[in-house]
Amino acid sequence: MSLPDADAVKKIRNAGVVGKKALELALTLIEPGSTMLSVATAIESMIRESGLVPSFPLNLSVNSEAAHYTPSINDKKAFHTGDVVKVDIGASDDGYCSDNALTLEVGETGKHSDLIDASKEALKSALKVIRPNVPVSKIGAKIEEVITSFGFRPVKNLGGHGIGRNDLHSSIFIPNYNDLNMTTIEPGSLVAIEPFASTGIGMIHNGQPGNIYMLDGPRIDKSGLFFREFNTLPFASRWLQGKVDNPEKMLRESLARKEIMTFPVLREHSGSLISQAEHTILVMSDDVIVTTI
Ligand code: MN
Ligand code: MN
Repeated sequence: MSLPDADAVKKIRNAGVVGKKALELALTLIEPGSTMLSVATAIESMIRESGLVPSFPLNLSVNSEAAHYTPSINDKKAFHTGDVVKVDIGASDDGYCSDNALTLEVGETGKHSDLIDASKEALKSALKVIRPNVPVSKIGAKIEEVITSFGFRPVKNLGGHGIGRNDLHSSIFIPNYNDLNMTTIEPGSLVAIEPFASTGIGMIHNGQPGNIYMLDGPRIDKSGLFFREFNTLPFASRWLQGKVDNPEKMLRESLARKEIMTFPVLREHSGSLISQAEHTILVMSDDVIVTTI
């Protein structure tokens, strides 16, 4: 793997800075009674106003949902006191992406602080383990150790991943437990580490559709202008509003023609609570840069 040049590093860092700001904004906006739609719109607008684009729609996943819910066009959902909310967002600068997440409890009753701290501390510890050529299972083992020490289980079928240009989930997988995989993180890799802690068995399955769509590479030339605008990064049905007459109909038809794919909401098997924390990390030959800190 080659190292990114100075221009790419600059864009990767810029995407990280804006992604971090987006999470900070989320912390100020999510409160009892605020709607998911207003929060998503405000955060995605802030990213665009900073000159970048969201690298994927704002994910707001509540309680036993682990990931992949974004508000629909006429979404009416609101936040309630005690909700455990995973906020996951990133920015793209010319296709160079960030991906970061945090978990908060709406209204901050403190009831779920341990669960929230488990994934947060696991991430913090994983950042001390990651370095050039470290095996991915060493990172996973640390995450598992920390989450288990809090009395929770790591989610085994979710994990960190490589991030390519216009490619949010490139090949490398970073487990949240010791899976004995000796694949190493090569210098030049941009990766996300994302521990998930669960009060249940630590497995997730696919749930209902989450309003997130994506073109993949081979299909990109076959599809309409509005989809091409997003390249091969995920987009929301909301983002087609004002651009086409009936976005949801267009998406349904495009899905039927297999031009695009959609992401189901990921749910904990036993309906238990889940927390998540995530940062993006650029691993160079002699340096590890956390772009979203
Ligand atoms: Mn993420
Ligand atoms: Mn991720």
